[in-house]
Amino acid sequence: MAITERPVLSAAIGTEHVRERAAIKVENPATGERIGSVPDHGPSEVEAIVARARAAQPIWEQMGFQGRAKVLLRAQKWLIENADRVIDSIVSETGKAHEDAQVPEIAYTAAALGFWAKAAPKYVGDQKVRTRSMLVKGRKLITRYRPLGVVGVIGPWNYPLLNSFGDCIPALAAGNATVLKPSEITPLTSLLMAEMMSECGMPMDAFQVVTGAGETGAALVEAADGIMFTGSTATGKKVAARAAESLTPVSLELGGKDPMIVLADADVERAANGAVFFAMHNGGQACISVERVYVEEAIYEPFVEKVTEKVRALRQGPPAGAGSIEVGAVIWPPQLDKIESHVKDAVGRGAEIIVGGKVVAASGRFFEPTVLVGVDHTAKIMREETFGPTLPIMKVRDADEAVRLANDSPYGLAASVWTRDTKRGQAIARRIEAGAVCVNDAMMNYLALEMPMGGHKGSGLGHRHGAGGIRKFTKPQAVLVQRFSLKRDLYWYPFSPRTTRLLANALHFLYGRGRRK
Ligand code: NDP
Repeated sequence: MAITERPVLSAAIGTEHVRERAAIKVENPATGERIGSVPDHGPSEVEAIVARARAAQPIWEQMGFQGRAKVLLRAQKWLIENADRVIDSIVSETGKAHEDAQVPEIAYTAAALGFWAKAAPKYVGDQKVRTRSMLVKGRKLITRYRPLGVVGVIGPWNYPLLNSFGDCIPALAAGNATVLKPSEITPLTSLLMAEMMSECGMPMDAFQVVTGAGETGAALVEAADGIMFTGSTATGKKVAARAAESLTPVSLELGGKDPMIVLADADVERAANGAVFFAMHNGGQACISVERVYVEEAIYEPFVEKVTEKVRALRQGPPAGAGSIEVGAVIWPPQLDKIESHVKDAVGRGAEIIVGGKVVAASGRFFEPTVLVGVDHTAKIMREETFGPTLPIMKVRDADEAVRLANDSPYGLAASVWTRDTKRGQAIARRIEAGAVCVNDAMMNYLALEMPMGGHKGSGLGHRHGAGGIRKFTKPQAVLVQRFSLKRDLYWYPFSPRTTRLLANALHFLYGRGRRK
């Protein structure tokens, strides 16, 4: 696919006057070609952009749920009509397979635009409250969800659409202005989203994109009223520490080391297909992919045999359109060394490489789809996030050992259990310390926007999706209205022995008679 270099783009809608520092070059990791460049926005520019977003926010909020839904639904249509253009953008800045851009990125984002347009009033519209408190009865009670103001979304490079713009959707649907800071490695698709939102009727400045590296992200944390961050645990902790200084609410989706447990009664063909697909999907660069596999002794040999055969059949290389390859490039340059060092470390601890295992000598960045067996649990590849096309497999005695090893991790993002006995699978799933656990599947929970998706332990704070996935972009406000104009309530001044006795009797009647059936 020939990709023509794009000019330096103005990174924020209507920010032509913003001084541009040295441009950041964007390259295609599959070919090494330079495909564009974007401005590097410094802290004062970020501050100015956030100030403009703050000024625009009331206009967006006043459009109401219906007005905002119209814009989001127009964007949904735009995205599908321009899907090829958006896929080309994603593929060119990540080097991933066409299909890795289509299903998770386009399908997810199109669904999310429709979902939040409809769900926002249900989750963050005024909620009438009925109380059991006798002292409050008769008042009108409303829980209101006020937008935070300006939400900063800081995204990583593995899914330039889903993990960046995807999180802007609920923030916008709740009535916030939103400033998106994509990874400096993959900023082009976010700029395309700015174009989309502008064309679909977004008020000027209410959605903007700032480009730059870590310093730009840090400045956004400083300036915004709420932060949604996706990336490494190390950077997530820095973001949380900085946000703590101003008590800015943060939601963090961080790394994972997601275990797959294959029980002896699993459908070995489905389990092997699942292991290969979910470990190699997106070149293994997914926080909820399969990162390590524990297989019960009885099924270990046939499982390894099938996985080996399937991984050998995978096609890798620069993507050249639909159906051309399965496994794409390594997106972030330092990642190549990290994957190689994890594989070498595993081999040094007794593992055997049965497929792949090496960096591919090419003008782009590729690591061979790799299967390792006989892996020791202390190896980095079993403990640290590898984020590459690797499939380390370990034999276990039984389900208990598998659960113990699955939980022996500082991470807790996602996991999967594979068995024909779905009841037992569910029971085992509930013992795993992870934010999402699938039975006979992996990752698909992410597409169920009604369910919370977030990490336990070192994998994050808060969650996306579901009611909490939009309420986190709001400040709940309790509104109480006394509709009856009594001159005074019973327990107001002046105090008297008679009313105090009356209240004591009422309290005894209400709460002092033990549990009522
Ligand atoms: P980071 O967590 O450092 O980057 C994520 C985002 O945060 C990027 O936009 C980055 O900007 C920005 N950023 C960097 N420093 C700061 C800061 N101090 N304040 C605010 N924002 C900041 O991830 P890396 O790209 O360094 O990848 C490291 C590892 O993270 C990978 O090897 C992988 O294991 C894991 N990872 C996990 C992801 C997930 O989905 N949970 C996604 C991607 C990576 P910029 O990139 O422009 O410097």
